[in-house]
Amino acid sequence: LNGYVGFANLPNQVHRKSVRKGFQFTCMVVGESGLGKSTLINTLFNTSLYPPKEPLPPSAERPQTVAIESISADIEENGVRLRLTVVDTPGFGDFVNNEDSWRPIVESIETRFDSYLEQENRVNRQKIVDNRVHACLYFIQPTGHSLKPIDVEFMRQLHNKVNLIPIIAKADTLTDDEVADFKARILADIAYHNIHIFQAPTYENEDEEALAEAEEIASKIPFAVVGSDHFVKTPDGREVRGRVYPWGVVEVDNEDHCDFVKLRQMLIRTYMEELREYTNDVLYENWRTEKLLKMGV
Ligand code: GDP
Ligand code: MG
Repeated sequence: LNGYVGFANLPNQVHRKSVRKGFQFTCMVVGESGLGKSTLINTLFNTSLYPPKEPLPPSAERPQTVAIESISADIEENGVRLRLTVVDTPGFGDFVNNEDSWRPIVESIETRFDSYLEQENRVNRQKIVDNRVHACLYFIQPTGHSLKPIDVEFMRQLHNKVNLIPIIAKADTLTDDEVADFKARILADIAYHNIHIFQAPTYENEDEEALAEAEEIASKIPFAVVGSDHFVKTPDGREVRGRVYPWGVVEVDNEDHCDFVKLRQMLIRTYMEELREYTNDVLYENWRTEKLLKMGV
């Protein structure tokens, strides 16, 4: 089932009506360049949304600010259509002074809320285009230490506006023990700064299996991921998505090797609809209420 992304599970998550119309899902990626953001998106959705990039010639002018770039793709699986948009934020964390790196990102998220509000207020609300960001994958550099000031600042500025999903990038560069320690320190930092990250919801009347699944996913946060959009051969002759090292192969889809499978479950297979709902019912609604209050409506 290697090519299978898993959003065809969506009909279990939502009403049939939305299945016919297709889904819109917008995922933002944030993190310093080179942390494997584009690779992970390709790996998650099994597409070449981001083709291999040409290196910049040395003479090329490097941008001085964070850019907001989105690309969309229609993917279909078992008759379910997904309109996927990925919002990339190149430049984040890449400058000498990164103090305001979060600002263009907040602005982009709010502009999308604004556009939604404007459409809601129209007389004809039949064709609302939902460009709101439903999840933000935040890539943490695999230093093995703790969060950096830029990480804390970004998450503090964004946690009330978007579903934050923190990720340890390139986890194959750390040992298992390093990953475990790093995770504990990141979670302590997140708690200390009262940062709210997305939690898979659990319901009172849920069956044991679903509860166990939610707990299992929650226990992996921040997900330590490895991305790779090509297949490699393992010593025992299997073709897997992975990265080759002199001492062996790190397999993307192997839960003993990294948390990629659990991240995909959170983002796509199990909680995509929850991410959309929480964005609409809580994040957008709070923003809207505050905005109307400020306007004195
Ligand atoms: P981006 O700038 O954050 O979008 O990073 P890219 O996806 O372009 O990846 C930058 C480099 O890191 C490329 O050479 C990738 O092959 C490599 N890379 C991507 N993901 C991983 C990973 O999980 N582990 C390791 N070791 N390298 C990775
Ligand atoms: Mg990239």
